[in-house]
Amino acid sequence: MTSPIEWNVETTDGRARAGTLRTRRSVIETPVFMPVGTQAAVKGIRFEWLEDELDARIILGNTYHLFLRPGVDVIREFGGLHKFGTWSRSLLTDSGGFQVFSLSDLRKLTEDGVEFRSHLDGGKHFLSPEVSMEIQAALGSEIVMVFDECPPGDAGHDLTRKSLEMTARWALRSKDRFNELQDSGQDTGYRAADGLSGRQALFGIVQGAGHYDLRSESLAKTVEIGFDGYAIGGLSVGEEKDVMYGVLDHIAHQMPDDAPRYLMGVGTPEDLIEAVYNGVDMFDCVIPTRNGRTGSAFTSHGKINVRNAKFTSDKGPIDAECSCSVCQRYSLGYIRHLYQAGEMTAATMISHHNVAFFLNTMRSARTAIIEGRFTQFRTDFLAKIGRFAAESV
Ligand SMILES: [Zn+2]
Repeated sequence: MTSPIEWNVETTDGRARAGTLRTRRSVIETPVFMPVGTQAAVKGIRFEWLEDELDARIILGNTYHLFLRPGVDVIREFGGLHKFGTWSRSLLTDSGGFQVFSLSDLRKLTEDGVEFRSHLDGGKHFLSPEVSMEIQAALGSEIVMVFDECPPGDAGHDLTRKSLEMTARWALRSKDRFNELQDSGQDTGYRAADGLSGRQALFGIVQGAGHYDLRSESLAKTVEIGFDGYAIGGLSVGEEKDVMYGVLDHIAHQMPDDAPRYLMGVGTPEDLIEAVYNGVDMFDCVIPTRNGRTGSAFTSHGKINVRNAKFTSDKGPIDAECSCSVCQRYSLGYIRHLYQAGEMTAATMISHHNVAFFLNTMRSARTAIIEGRFTQFRTDFLAKIGRFAAESV
């Protein structure tokens, strides 16, 4: 069976790669940042802004949240997640595993799957590799993630090994159920009606916490099963930064060359640049919008908080080097006033700028890779961001 996605590495510069990922819905130039649409929306940003101005080619949807609310039946009734919210480009859905382990209470974890109570109303639910594949088929994403277990960032060697062995068994079960669903045509009718291939792509996940030998072992097990793409999971879950960078340095370049590499749920702009340097292609993280809601803006000179009194009469934009519509039109002093006055527009403006900053940072990295100057770009980028680190909030 040929893969439903097409992946080409166009250029490499050291370990860094510039590639193109084609799905049934969009062409994605990498390295790429995927804004997170937790509840079927990227918080504070309408889809027309994401498409027309910010030109995001792929966003992420959260299986756990959508499973609990509005529920799979409602999304199925609309003909999938794309039609529910009118998003027309690519969508990657996570498996729900990470949220079950981080958000819900009273989990009962067995070989079969995990029983948990909803963080919304305490209702009892069950997720397993099979159920996760069924939900993601109904959501209709272009890229589906296997259902994995994510141990804490500081998990010991024994616990981590047990966990990654179960993750490998779950990955196999995910793939089996995924293939059954793709072959059966269940939940693919509405995509076929739009002239799109019904088939989704499936990515495997490499676990192993901060243990290099276990990361290698997990990678070998995952590659042996065989997936359309490979993700690094279990980072940015409470471990120290040098542990995360060590794992990236160890494992990213060992992942298959002929498939996209995706670092899940990470991170700050400097984390992204470090991961690109080590050969990662795809990223997602909630921080552009989460920080946007708390007044924190990412700029080419580091992070600022618009609440800071020194911005009261600042007539300049959030970031003079940013081309987003917020920076083209509004002053920092005005946005600070909106934030202080509790105007929701402040949060949407800062979120909008932050998403633009993350997308543009990856575009600049891509250009630098293509032009063979990524190492210099990385040095300059990190120096510039660090310059005002002392002022960060
Ligand atoms: Zn901007």
